[in-house]
Amino acid sequence: EAALSKTEAVDVKGWKEGDPVPYTALAKAFSLIEATTKRIEKTSLLTSLFLLVIRRRAKGDTNSLLQTVYLCINKLCPDYVGIELGIGESLLVKAIAESTGRSLATIKADLKKEGDLGLVAMHSKNSQKTLFKPKPLTVPFVFTNLKEIALSTGHSSQGKKVSIITKLLAACQGSEAKYIVRSLEGKLRIGNAERTVLVALAHAAVLAEQERSNKRMNKERLTARLEEGAHILKSVYSELPSYDLVIPALLETGIDKLREHCKLVPGVPLKPMLAKPTKAIGEVLDRFDEKRFTCEYKYDGERAQVHRLEDGTVGVFSRNSEDMSTKYPDLVENIPHEGTKTFVFDAEAVAIDKHGKLLPFQELSKRKRKDVKVEDIEVRVCLFAFDLLYLNGESLLQRPLYERRELLRQHFQPVDMEFDFAKASDAESLDEIQHFMEQSVKDGCEGLMVKMLESEASFYEPSRRSVNWLKVKKDYLAGIGDSLDLVVVGGYHGKGKRTNVYGAFLLACYDADAEEYQTICKIGTGFSDEMLQSHYEALKPLEISQPRGDVKVGGAKPEVWFEPKIVWEVLTADLSLSPIYPAAQGLVGERGISLRFPRFLRVRDDKSAEDATGPDQIAEMYERQVLSGSKSGKKKKDG
Ligand code: ATP
Repeated sequence: EAALSKTEAVDVKGWKEGDPVPYTALAKAFSLIEATTKRIEKTSLLTSLFLLVIRRRAKGDTNSLLQTVYLCINKLCPDYVGIELGIGESLLVKAIAESTGRSLATIKADLKKEGDLGLVAMHSKNSQKTLFKPKPLTVPFVFTNLKEIALSTGHSSQGKKVSIITKLLAACQGSEAKYIVRSLEGKLRIGNAERTVLVALAHAAVLAEQERSNKRMNKERLTARLEEGAHILKSVYSELPSYDLVIPALLETGIDKLREHCKLVPGVPLKPMLAKPTKAIGEVLDRFDEKRFTCEYKYDGERAQVHRLEDGTVGVFSRNSEDMSTKYPDLVENIPHEGTKTFVFDAEAVAIDKHGKLLPFQELSKRKRKDVKVEDIEVRVCLFAFDLLYLNGESLLQRPLYERRELLRQHFQPVDMEFDFAKASDAESLDEIQHFMEQSVKDGCEGLMVKMLESEASFYEPSRRSVNWLKVKKDYLAGIGDSLDLVVVGGYHGKGKRTNVYGAFLLACYDADAEEYQTICKIGTGFSDEMLQSHYEALKPLEISQPRGDVKVGGAKPEVWFEPKIVWEVLTADLSLSPIYPAAQGLVGERGISLRFPRFLRVRDDKSAEDATGPDQIAEMYERQVLSGSKSGKKKKDG
């Protein structure tokens, strides 16, 4: 009901069946979504927008919904294709000036005042007197032009980009310029998490099917259908994260048959299964109770999802679905595949020395991220496979781990210094596991991954941080548990001989529901001069004049602000409630949570800012710390 009542709010006069989707409809929906903090409201606004698009699409057209969805999440293609927007401030300022006839200095001054280039663009447009009303923008026109901008690279592309942006801005009316500019910047900032978009898409599909079938449904039945639809679409998308494939199937076959048509397929990286941290081995035994489980070495490298396609092409994808095939040409070349046609396996790529000894992640991180040539490789990499997800045309996600592991071992053979299986022990006693843990650390690993072996509980759960996979790291034993991945949002100038670099940094966690960064601590000790220099080089280009609109600052007062982009892995001795930092505020009380004595571990190139640790995980860590403190007052012995 809520969604249907909102269709009027986002509808546009004159939008008829078969027309291209007017961009104004999106801009209207975005404004309303931005104006509310209520998730249900945001979902129903998006649902109405998608419903209108579905109702009015021409027969057989799937593109209008696809492009609308992409513009709502500010993407242009699936993550693994890697075409992204993120146009720099200066280029946008130039384009706004050119298209509105205002000077660069005025635009810059406005930006200082408003803190949002989108608003500056909108106000500049709206104060401009125009003789002719421009031809209205449409979704296909905006989408195609944004894609062209994202695809043009190199120095000479700057002029081309400015001219496309100027053309787009010239046609903007009302609030359109605000969202076009924010899209170009790489962030819509309307608090529109991708999860919300998925739910809305499912709801719109269910409602459209319901309208077409003309059958009346009572409220309870409809609510159940909507929930079921959202559940189906979320699970399908985590297995096949490509709207290019899922949306046409959704429109053509309907939501109920979606699972049959959209399954894991080599070439499209699925969202990896993630693990929950545990502090002590005893806790593992408690959690898994009587069930069978296995312990594997937790290698200190980089996650690598390896795909072999029908045509023999091999692709290696990161934890973030980024294509790493040109970072690991050696792996691509060496992956054993006799007797297998197509497959997807999950593995960790680890740096090794010439004797095959495991080296820490720092060694691996010396490798370039792209375009590596086999003959230039200095640090060798060995691949440790730990799961098989697809084999010869069949998805194995819904098979128990012991079967998947058996198939992995049957169909692949270890190759010295190149490919091996993750070392595993199915031991069950605390002593044996403790011993295996010590051995893993001695062999250069971070600790253990403990995984359920049998029954449905051991199925592969794409994109889930699951209790059926537990990680026990050696660092946990001394600290509060897991390390945190935090985004650098601010900096403080160095002192003494460090005046040319930043000497300390402001970090934030990321709340995916609210789509905001929440500051959590200042970090300033433990950096060598070399490290500070390299952090400076990475962060200087990201300096911005004020905190971005989606950064919840609290009482933090850094001297410079950064575009939230770089993720650091950080350890802490302790978590405490804080009157200054707003991280996880409201989850364990009115105050936020902060890190005490944070220590920098490493840069996490494989994580985007949106993969940073979330407030719920931080609250969980805090509560666990309180719990273990109050129970025994000291560290548990078995940990
Ligand atoms: P997360 O991936 O849980 O967000 P993270 O990226 O910080 O956290 P870790 O906490 O170090 O990673 O733990 C999970 C990662 O450990 C996996 O993503 C994978 O890259 C790595 N790993 C190493 N060995 C294994 C193994 N045997 N099984 C599963 N993952 C492993």
